[in-house]
Amino acid sequence: MYQALYRVWRPRKFSDMVGQESIVRTLTNQVSAGRIAHAYLFCGSRGTGKTSAAKIMARAINCENPQHGDPCCECNSCRMIESDTSFDVFEMDAASNSRVDEIRELLEKVDYPPQFGKYKVYIIDEVHMLSNSAFNALLKTLEEPPEYMVFILATTEPQKLPSTILSRCQRYDFGRFTESQITGHLKKVAAESGVEAEEDALALIARAAEGGMRDALSILDMCIGGGEKVTEESVRSALGTADRAFLFQFTGALCDKEGGEALRLIDKMMMDGRDVQVFLKDLSAHLRLLMAARLCGADETVPGLGGVYGKRYLAQAQKFSQERLLRALELCMKAEGDTRWASSGRSVLEIFALRVCEQPEERDYEALLERIGELELKIEELEKRGVAAPAAAPDFVPKIPKRAEKVADAPIVETPVPQGSKAPKDVWNDALKLLRRNAPMVFAPLSQAKYGGYQDGLYRAVFPKEQKFFLDMLQNDERRKLVEDALNQSGGINARFEAVHALPQADPQAQKMADDNLDALIGTFGRDKVTVE
Ligand SMILES: [Zn+2]
Repeated sequence: MYQALYRVWRPRKFSDMVGQESIVRTLTNQVSAGRIAHAYLFCGSRGTGKTSAAKIMARAINCENPQHGDPCCECNSCRMIESDTSFDVFEMDAASNSRVDEIRELLEKVDYPPQFGKYKVYIIDEVHMLSNSAFNALLKTLEEPPEYMVFILATTEPQKLPSTILSRCQRYDFGRFTESQITGHLKKVAAESGVEAEEDALALIARAAEGGMRDALSILDMCIGGGEKVTEESVRSALGTADRAFLFQFTGALCDKEGGEALRLIDKMMMDGRDVQVFLKDLSAHLRLLMAARLCGADETVPGLGGVYGKRYLAQAQKFSQERLLRALELCMKAEGDTRWASSGRSVLEIFALRVCEQPEERDYEALLERIGELELKIEELEKRGVAAPAAAPDFVPKIPKRAEKVADAPIVETPVPQGSKAPKDVWNDALKLLRRNAPMVFAPLSQAKYGGYQDGLYRAVFPKEQKFFLDMLQNDERRKLVEDALNQSGGINARFEAVHALPQADPQAQKMADDNLDALIGTFGRDKVTVE
């Protein structure tokens, strides 16, 4: 029977584990010294070794013949636990068993001492999923655990655990694996499985796995399905390059400035496990083809524009002005570069999408060109439908709004916080971390702002002038509420939140440019057709 690589390669001893050295050292020392805690909490993102470590720990503390803190893997106890036939070790996944009855049933058995080994071990995976009453039942046992009882709780979201539980556990944070740790492990797995693999191909897998060993092994699994050599190309096709239909759909959302739709599509993409960097690469190729279609028309001789897709590219290209298309392409290439060092590829992609959807600042010269380009497109469209050429029609009078924005009117006065409580800046930073994980749609715009200070429960974010679009997003009540919830959760008390513009700085050059643009417009459309609001 075929077994998935990550199962075959699940470490059986602490000494087989990749990385997490300090955790391994502490745990093996405890086993050797016989100093076992009643409750352990293993935190970390998926595929970082929490469950493996929990299983090893359960065997090590019951092993008849432990070796430097590692289980021997040969004694009766080790064998029974490993084959799941031991009555002393229970494993449950709270994600599928969050009902209070089940945990109560489990906890009722706490009073019976272990049948075979020294310790009775309960491993509860994804423990943050337990219901409140299940937590209360667990807490009761943790308050006065029998001598033989050991809980190993594992979670990807420790911030969702009640502090009463947290304070009773020895906590260990499992870090993500580095790319070189993953590449090194994959190399070993490939060699020992008799699979030939290119170094670059393994590096590509490591990058796509974003620090999770299980994902890395699953991708490798997909690539060696056919039994051929693992190449960069086979990895790319296993990762699934974005298909064309999805590219048309996503670009359509950008074209229609449907930021919400674009974010929804990104969410879908992430759920499908697609790689952001690969997607951006495909997207920039797509935008280049649109640009070619815009410039050359449906010219069959242009590579990529022939065949069934030529017309479709042309149709989509005609919805973009040339300037806007160029800007989208530039932003896309920049985002492609940014993903190389950004910790979250997803945020980079989201910010890219929102930027392309954003209404550019009218004062910006290139943005003005872009707006004119769009107006010309509308004229073209109307002409095609037989409407009289509207060069001077009132609809097309460009308006230059005078900007009236909310700025940081009253500079914030930092109020002192009581001795011993969390500094507001720390509350802010922790809230950002929570949002990054739980509400990327709020985090993406908020990450463009600076921390603007704290006063009497009010936290302020200051946006640079050119980020008006992001500021507007956060003035929505629902999103503001999300930010306030995160602030409260990270230690703020009745936290409120506001987003404001930075005080404008007199910029003579920008003013001159705006005046020049105005002159150019008046030159084109006539003085009486241009109004300054
Ligand atoms: Zn043993």
